[in-house]
Amino acid sequence: MGAGPAGLTAAYELLKRDVPVTVLEKDPKQVGGLARTVEHNGYRFDIGGHRFFSKNEEVEDLWTEILGDEMLNRGRLSRIYYRGRFFAYPIQAFNALWNLGPLEAALCLASYLRARLRPVKNPRSLEEWVRNQFGWRLYSIFFKTYTEKVWGISTKELSADWAAQRIKSLDLWVVIRSALLPNRKPRRRGEVVTTLIDRFRYPRLGPGQMWERVAEISAGKGHPVLLGRAVSRIEHVDGAVTAVVTTGAGGEAERHEGTDFISSIPIRELVARLEPPAPAAVRQAAERLGYRDFISIALMIDRPSVFPDNWIYIHDPNVRVGRIQNFKNWSPDMVPDPSKTCLGLEYFCFEGDGLWTMPDADMIELAKKELAQLGICEAGEVFDGVVVRQPKAYPVYDDSYQANVGVVREYIASELPNLHLAGRNGMHKYNNQDHSMMTALLVARRIATGSLLDPWKVNADAVYHEDIKVGERDLAGRQVPERIPAKA
Ligand SMILES: Cc1cc2nc3c(=O)[nH]c(=O)nc-3n(C[C@H](O)[C@H](O)[C@H](O)COP(=O)(O)OP(=O)(O)OC[C@H]3O[C@@H](n4cnc5c(N)ncnc54)[C@H](O)[C@@H]3O)c2cc1C
Repeated sequence: MGAGPAGLTAAYELLKRDVPVTVLEKDPKQVGGLARTVEHNGYRFDIGGHRFFSKNEEVEDLWTEILGDEMLNRGRLSRIYYRGRFFAYPIQAFNALWNLGPLEAALCLASYLRARLRPVKNPRSLEEWVRNQFGWRLYSIFFKTYTEKVWGISTKELSADWAAQRIKSLDLWVVIRSALLPNRKPRRRGEVVTTLIDRFRYPRLGPGQMWERVAEISAGKGHPVLLGRAVSRIEHVDGAVTAVVTTGAGGEAERHEGTDFISSIPIRELVARLEPPAPAAVRQAAERLGYRDFISIALMIDRPSVFPDNWIYIHDPNVRVGRIQNFKNWSPDMVPDPSKTCLGLEYFCFEGDGLWTMPDADMIELAKKELAQLGICEAGEVFDGVVVRQPKAYPVYDDSYQANVGVVREYIASELPNLHLAGRNGMHKYNNQDHSMMTALLVARRIATGSLLDPWKVNADAVYHEDIKVGERDLAGRQVPERIPAKA
C-alpha cells in the first residue's frame, strides 16, 4: 500500500528475491509519494528539495544501483535570508555579526554576554535553551521565526531537549572553530554534524526519477504499479489480513488478495480502513495521531539566475513563506530553458486552515507579492505558477504520539502479524528517504526469508540498532521538537 520510497523499495527487494508483488497507489498519475517530482509545462520540482544523503551505505549503494550515472554529486549552498541579506547557514559567528551591521552586532554581542552571565537555570523550553546559548537577539533572528513557521507552535511551548540534541555541536565555540578551520576533517563518517554536510547526491531529473525508475523495473518484471487505487478497506479474518480493497477515481472497487501486506500509508488511515474494525482503544490511538501539512508554490521567472543557493530559509517575520527552493541549482535539467528560473516557495500549514483553503490564484498572487516584498525579484518577472498541496507532510510528535503508535503497533503485531508497517507516515516517524527505505528492506526480507530483524529498530540515521525497545524515546535520532511535557 503506497508507491513512495518505502512501498517501492519493498517491491524492488521482493522482486529481486522472486516474490511476486502488487503495489497499490492512490495517486492517479505518478509514483514517489513525498519524494515525487512534479512537472508543470516542462519545469520539474520537488515537494521540498530532496537531498540524497545517508549514513547507511546499503542505501547509498542502492541509489547507485538504480540510477547509476544519473545521480549527480552536488555542492550545497543554503543560506538564511533576513532583512534583505544572506547569512551563512549553518550560522557562522563572524558572517552573522558582519551582515547584521555594527549596531545590531553590538546589541547581539551584549545580549549574548548577558545570556552567558545570567542564563536561565534548568531551561525547559526551546526558547530558554537557545537564548542561553546565543543570547536573546540572535535567538529571535535565527531560531524563533523559522521554527514557529515550520511547526506552527510557539518556541515557548517547545521542549528544550530537541535543541539540546540538534544544536549542541553548534554552540558559538564550534561555530567559531569551523569558521576559522573550515578544512578540519571529521575523524569518522558518523562524526559529521548533520547540518554541516556540504555535499549531497541528487537525481538529474529530481527525486521522482529514482522512484519512476523503480516502478519501470517492477513493470519490466511483470508487476506494474497500480495507480489510481486508493486503499478503502483492509479485510481480515482469523488473525490475518486476506485482501485489500481499492477504489478508483470513478468509484470502481477492486479486491487484491495476498499472503502478506505492507502498509506505508498513514497509520491513521490504515487503522480506519480495517474491516472488521479494530478495537475502540486502537482506533482512538490512531485517530489521535497528528500531521503538519505543506504547500509548495512553483513560480517560473524570466531570468537565468535569481540566487545561487539550492534553497534559502526565510526568517523575515513579515512574510509567511518559510523556505524557497531554487530547483535549477539542484540540477540544471530541472528547467527546460536555461534562460529561466523555477523557484518553489514553501508554506507550512494545517489542512483546512486559511492558507490550505486559499484558492490557487490567490496563493500564486501571495507568493509573487512575498517574492517582491523580500526583494528577490519583481512580481512582473513571474510568467507562470502552480500550487501543490501536500497533506500529511510531517508526522507530528506531540506528548502522546509514542504511546499512541505503541498501541497500534502492538495490536497489529499480535492480532494481524501478516500486516507489516514501513516508511514515514507508515510508522509515524519523521524521517528521510533512507530511513523509509531501510525499514522497507527489512520488512521485505522478513517476508522473503523469515529474517527477524525488526524495522522498528532502524534509527533516524537509517542504522539498525538492536537495543531500541517499544515506546523508548529514540533521543539520539530526534529530528522534531516536542511540546514541553505537562508536569506530573
Ligand atoms: C518538505 C519535505 C522535505 C524532505 N526532504 C528530504 C530530503 O532532503 N532528503 C530525504 O531523504 N528525505 C526528505 N524528505 C522525506 C521523504 O520525503 C520521506 O522520508 C519519504 O518520501 C517517505 O517515503 P514513504 O514511502 O514512507 O512515504 P510517502 O512518500 O508518504 O509515500 C506514501 C505513498 O502512499 C500513498 N497513499 C497514501 N494513502 C493511500 C491510500 N489510502 N491508498 C493508496 N495509497 C496511498 C501516497 O500517495 C504516497 O505515494 C522530505 C519530506 C518533506 C515533506
